Amino acid sequence: MLDVAVLEKKSSVYLSAQHGFQVFNFPNRKKLFTRWNGKSLNFKVTERGFGFLNFNNLQSVTIEPFKKGLVYVNGKGYRGKLKLLEDRFGKLTVVNLVDIESYLYGVIKSEMLINSPIEALKAQAVVARTYAIKNKDKFRREGFGLTDDVRSQVYNGIEDEHPIARKVVKYTHGKILTYEDKPISGFYHSACGGSTLASKDWHGKGVPYLKSKDCKWCSGYKNYVWDYELSFAGLTGYLNQRGEKVRKINKVHFEHDSNGRVKLVHISHKDGKLKVSGTIFRQMISASKVRSTIFKSVGIAENDNHKSNNKGELAIMQILVDYNRRFSKLKLRGTGFGHGVGLCQWGAKGLAKQSLKYPDILKYYFTGVSLEKIY
Ligand SMILES: [Zn+2]
Repeated sequence: MLDVAVLEKKSSVYLSAQHGFQVFNFPNRKKLFTRWNGKSLNFKVTERGFGFLNFNNLQSVTIEPFKKGLVYVNGKGYRGKLKLLEDRFGKLTVVNLVDIESYLYGVIKSEMLINSPIEALKAQAVVARTYAIKNKDKFRREGFGLTDDVRSQVYNGIEDEHPIARKVVKYTHGKILTYEDKPISGFYHSACGGSTLASKDWHGKGVPYLKSKDCKWCSGYKNYVWDYELSFAGLTGYLNQRGEKVRKINKVHFEHDSNGRVKLVHISHKDGKLKVSGTIFRQMISASKVRSTIFKSVGIAENDNHKSNNKGELAIMQILVDYNRRFSKLKLRGTGFGHGVGLCQWGAKGLAKQSLKYPDILKYYFTGVSLEKIY
């Protein structure tokens, strides 16, 4: 069973269930209230804790539906049960208590295009299940296990269910990836951009099954190539927000690994020099703008290894160099989308189109893992 926060930091929430529900105090299971129909019940923050109708000062309750019907949070439907709790700021958190397979019904379409080849979707189902099991206590300190957004996996309850999603979840029922008999860290991303990123080059921790793998199959992604422009002044702002004392930037140099991924960003400024990793650089600006760490700066003085004999091209390069110097701007061009670690979803799609089955797709991106049925 998973407990997924589906609503956080609220002052009020309406809960209901298809065929009615009962409210139990938590954890002593004292029955507080029975609703015999589908009408909703309003829970509100009170002076201490929360309450509903003439109940006050509650800290935590469970909402258990009759006949295994769906439960609704402000009209949004979920399988399983609900738990309501007061957070440390005195606000309400709604948690969905749901079995793993039902949870996955609501995850697959939110995390991958549902028109992907079926073997790629099966691979996604296994990775999403593995991720959920491995991270089921990730937010335990907050009083629940997982969130319903990108901090965990995107989960929209029955709203995002799809017959194909249910089919691939059923097909892979209980199957996860393991390494030395333990669930792996099932990272995945949209498109790696040419090769996946080894974990040691991501957050410094070498994980044996998260190695860098060549991947030419994700180039079918429609936004495979991306561009982003950033002024030195803008970059200064981002660095200052991070607490770096930088005033005026005069040069930025990108250091790449052999796969073209930015390892380090060297920044020279008025008061000295500074370097940040490619991953930090991407997160610092915006992971949706700097869409991956496979990028380079184009049309700026850094192209000193540009070996062109074409005079016209050189002239254009010179204009760009002058332009960029004048406006102190970086023009970045990259490939792929996402952190690049683990399963490349567009790569999985490409491999599925080449008739690879989901166990082989998974074993390509995760080195030396086993596919195990744990229930
Ligand atoms: Zn890829």
